[in-house]
Amino acid sequence: MELYSTKHLSPNVSLQEAVLTGLPPDNGLYVPSTIPELPATFFDHIQDMNFREMALTVGHALLKDDIDKDSLATIVDDAFNFDTPVVHLEDNIHVLELFHGPTLAFKDYGARFMSRLMRYFLRNSDQEINILVATSGDTGGAVGYGFLGIEGIKVTILYPKGKVSEVQEKQLTTIGGNITTIEVDGNFDDCQSLVKAAFLDPVLSKTLHLTSANSINIARLIPQSFYYYQAYAQLKSSGLPLVVSVPSGNFGNLCGGLLAYQMGLPVYQFIASTNVNDVVPAYLKTGIFHPKPSVATISNAMDVGNPSNFPRILAIMNEDESLIKSKISGFAFDDYTTKVKMQEIHERFNYMMCPHTVVAYLGLKAWMESHRMPVTGVLLSTAHPAKFTDIVSPVIGAEVTLPPPLAQAYRKEKIAVSLSNRMEDLKAFLLSG
Ligand SMILES: *Cc1c(COP(=O)(O)O)cnc(C)c1O
Repeated sequence: MELYSTKHLSPNVSLQEAVLTGLPPDNGLYVPSTIPELPATFFDHIQDMNFREMALTVGHALLKDDIDKDSLATIVDDAFNFDTPVVHLEDNIHVLELFHGPTLAFKDYGARFMSRLMRYFLRNSDQEINILVATSGDTGGAVGYGFLGIEGIKVTILYPKGKVSEVQEKQLTTIGGNITTIEVDGNFDDCQSLVKAAFLDPVLSKTLHLTSANSINIARLIPQSFYYYQAYAQLKSSGLPLVVSVPSGNFGNLCGGLLAYQMGLPVYQFIASTNVNDVVPAYLKTGIFHPKPSVATISNAMDVGNPSNFPRILAIMNEDESLIKSKISGFAFDDYTTKVKMQEIHERFNYMMCPHTVVAYLGLKAWMESHRMPVTGVLLSTAHPAKFTDIVSPVIGAEVTLPPPLAQAYRKEKIAVSLSNRMEDLKAFLLSG
């Protein structure tokens, strides 16, 4: 696979280079130069395939020049060792549950695949690699667990002390193994500045072979296309057009769906569902992309005022604005509407949704009401409600049972290194290590 930068100011690169560097030097985003089309026979038989078989077929079509099929099969089997169920909710509405991985959120798909692909690309090097990530909560856990036990790669996670939720802190500070967690006496911006400074520090980047595990790494995006095939395979027998609602913040998840669409997956309509951070729904209405400062909401993983994957949406859709507007609809909802619907869904279906997933449900319903045509609707459920129990429990008036991975984390002792927000301290710690 050859990749180009959306800014067109850096040379094209191989997948290996794109995965190991993360970002092109011109600060654009890597996008595949050509997107292969899957054969019709694949879609004829897709309903008989399981998730890993689909992931392998799609992954091989994309990556066949970069990794042999057996090695890819090993990565797929190891990365996706949990379920991806499609659950029926009500007439013509289904939930694709993406929260059965170790950190109970869809970011596990990207993080687990990326870590194993990186390991593969480093297979002939005996250099130990160090990954440094700053997290405001969720990404750190997915990356930490994604790389847990991956040989030759060490991960250091920085999180702002006292500024993540209890659940998030439990997840971040109980990983162990090759993962080190640092509690920084500062805010998220301090954590990010420290990581940036570390990458710019010649001594650190040379002695530690620092690499990023950025959320916009192409290796995180590719596996996020796989589960769209799962939704189609499970719902194909309805014979109705498929409408997919994606709760969105940085729009990496939606990019995965658009990639699947460009490879031939028959999706009739994508719905970009957001909270009040509605830059993309506004763009779809007005044609003007106007980033603004983010606003805090109860679906905080989607509090993004300048979605970094926006240029990738344009690129994957061939910069064709009329195609984008015909294939993607956008809807935005405030916290009040989200809470009311969360309560109603629990009451009517005895089903608990995290706030992000409720936003996707609202988007799907809004589209269905404005189109009134027979479709099969599916919404992507991006996190287990227990991850947001502080919001969900009071709204539904019931406790959310902790699923096993979280219950385990709660039983473990917190292990975190406490550091100030000064670069000298981080540097000394990293070099001691
Ligand atoms: C990251 C995240 C999102 C947003 O996904 P994007 O790819 O950034 O659009 C939605 N829900 C949850 C629970 C998340 O963690």
